[in-house]
Amino acid sequence: MQLLYQQSGRLFAFKKKTKVMIERDGAATSLWQSSTNAFHGSRQFVNQEFDVIIVGGGITGLTTALLLQKSGKHCVLLEAKSLCFGTTGGTTAHLNTLLDTPYAEMIKNFGHENARLVANNAKAAIELIEKNILEYEIDCEFQRTSAFLFAKDHGQEKELDEIVGAANNLGVESKFVSKIPWPFQFRKAAEFSGQAKFHPTRYVMSLAKAFEELGGLILENCRVKYAEYKQVILIDSPLGKIYAHHLVYATHIPPGVTQLNLRCAPYRSYAIALQIESDYPESLAYDMEDPYHYFRVQTIDEQKYLIAGGEDHKTGHPTLSENPFKSLEDLVSKHFKATAVSNRWSSQYFESVDGLPFIGKLSEVENNIYVATGFGGNGMIYGTVSALVLHDLITGTENPCIRLFSPTRHKLMASAKSFIKENVDVATKFFGKFWPAREFKSKDALETEEGGIFKMDGKTLAIYRDSNERLLVVDPTCTHMKCQVNWNEFEKSWDCPCHGARYSVEGEVLTGPADANLTKVEAVPLPAKAET
Ligand SMILES: Cc1cc2nc3c(=O)[nH]c(=O)nc-3n(C[C@H](O)[C@H](O)[C@H](O)COP(=O)(O)OP(=O)(O)OC[C@H]3O[C@@H](n4cnc5c(N)ncnc54)[C@H](O)[C@@H]3O)c2cc1C
Repeated sequence: MQLLYQQSGRLFAFKKKTKVMIERDGAATSLWQSSTNAFHGSRQFVNQEFDVIIVGGGITGLTTALLLQKSGKHCVLLEAKSLCFGTTGGTTAHLNTLLDTPYAEMIKNFGHENARLVANNAKAAIELIEKNILEYEIDCEFQRTSAFLFAKDHGQEKELDEIVGAANNLGVESKFVSKIPWPFQFRKAAEFSGQAKFHPTRYVMSLAKAFEELGGLILENCRVKYAEYKQVILIDSPLGKIYAHHLVYATHIPPGVTQLNLRCAPYRSYAIALQIESDYPESLAYDMEDPYHYFRVQTIDEQKYLIAGGEDHKTGHPTLSENPFKSLEDLVSKHFKATAVSNRWSSQYFESVDGLPFIGKLSEVENNIYVATGFGGNGMIYGTVSALVLHDLITGTENPCIRLFSPTRHKLMASAKSFIKENVDVATKFFGKFWPAREFKSKDALETEEGGIFKMDGKTLAIYRDSNERLLVVDPTCTHMKCQVNWNEFEKSWDCPCHGARYSVEGEVLTGPADANLTKVEAVPLPAKAET
C-alpha cells in the first residue's frame, strides 16, 4: 500500500496497480501509458437511444459524460480507438490557473470581467478534479503546489511584471520572489499559488469507471464520421445506429470541415521524463522563452520522474531543432544531475485564434451539436471547464461562460484576423514546401522505419519502410482538405501541416479533423532495383 493523498487530515491509501500499456496516437511511449490500467467498459450495446452522445474518450469527454450522467442524462461515450488515445495520453498534466494566454492580454481583448470569469473557471476546474478524486477515491497522485515563472532578460522581465499585475488584479494569487526552488538562473521570478499536478490517465480511466457505474455506456473502436442533424441526432456508427437528443464532440477538434479549422491551429509539443532521486522540487516551473519550456516532478508508484517539455512547433512543419528530444535533454543536463531518460514523447494541441477556448454549440443552426476545442497547452483545465459549461448548456442551466466561450463568437481581434488569413492560404502556402518530393530510385532511399515523400512515374507518394523491410505506400493527399502530409519521424506518422490531421504508416486516421484514411497505393511500379 502507498500513501497518495492527504486533505483536511484525512489520509487515503490505495493498493498498487499492475502496469499495463495503454494505446496512444503515436509511436513514442509517454510516461503515463505504462503506468495506467486501461478501462474498456463492460456494458453491452443494447439500447440505441440516448439523451447525449459524447464523442471522444479523453479528459474532456469523460468529465462531460460523468457530469451529465450524474445529472440524470442517459449518455453513451464513443471513442475512435481506446480511452486516452489522444492528447490526454500524451499530456504533461500541470493543473494551472496561470494560463498560457496572459491575463493582461485577456483583459485587453475581452475585458476585466470576462478575464476574471476565465480565472475563476480555471480555479473551479482544479476544484472539480480534486472533488472527483475524493468522491471516487482516485489513485492519481494529485498534489496542490505552486508554479514559478522566471524571466531571463529585460523583455521577459517586463512581460512578467504585466502577468503578475494582471493575475493579482483578477484574484489569481501571485508574488515576486527572490529565490526559486529550481536550479535556473533568472533576473526576476514570480510564484503563483493554487496550482496542482496529477497522473492524467489514471484520473481519466477512473472517471470512466465511475461513469459506467452510474449507468453510462462506453463504446471503443467506434469512430464517428458523420452525425445526421435533425431534432433527433442519428449516428451510423461502426457498431450500429445510435440516436440521441444531443451530441458533444469532445474529440479535441471536431471531425470534418468546420469553421473551427480556421480558428484553431495545430501544434506539436515534446516531453521527456527522467528517473530521479528524491531531492527535487514538487512545484511547477516555466521559463519565458518563445516557445516556453515547462518542468515538473511526478511520483508514480514511489518512483520520481522529472518531466521537461517544450520545443513546440506547428504540426507538419519543421522542428525547431534537428532533434527536439535531444534539445530538451541538453537543457535538462545543463541544470540537473545527469539521469537516464525513461520516456520521450510528443503530442498535439490546438491553439485558438484569440487565446480563449471554443466551448459550446458548433453552429447557430445545428442547435444540439456541441464542441470543445482550442485549449492550447491548458487542456486539462479547459477540458474540465468544458464539461461544466456543456453540462449547463445541455441541462438548461445558466452559466456566463456559455456566451464567453461560444464557438460562434463574432468579435475577433486584429491579431485573430491575421491568424485566420494565414490559415486560409495555408494549403497553398505549405504544399510540398518543407520536404519537396525526391525521386524514388530504390528502397535504399529510406532507412528502416523511416518515411518520406517521393515522386515516382510523375506521382507523389508517401512511402514508409517498415522493420520487416516492406514498403508501405499511401497517397499523401490529406483526406480533410487535400493538403500534402509530411513525415513525423518522432511519432512515425504522416502529419498534415494545414489543420493537423495525422495518419499511421498504413494511412489510418490517428488524429482529426480528418475522418477518412489516406488512400493505400497497393501496386507501386517500383524501379527495377527496388523490391517490395
Ligand atoms: C505535450 C503536451 C503537453 C501538455 N501539457 C499540458 C499540461 O501540462 N496541462 C494542461 O492543462 N494541458 C496540457 N496539454 C494540453 C492537454 O493535454 C489537451 O488539451 C487535453 O489532453 C485535450 O483533451 P481532450 O479530451 O479534449 O482531447 P484528447 O485527449 O485528444 O481526446 C480526444 C479523443 O477523441 C477521440 N476521437 C477523435 N476523433 C474521433 C471521432 N471522430 N470519433 C470517435 N472518437 C474520436 C480520440 O481518439 C481521442 O481519444 C498538453 C498538450 C501537449 C501536446
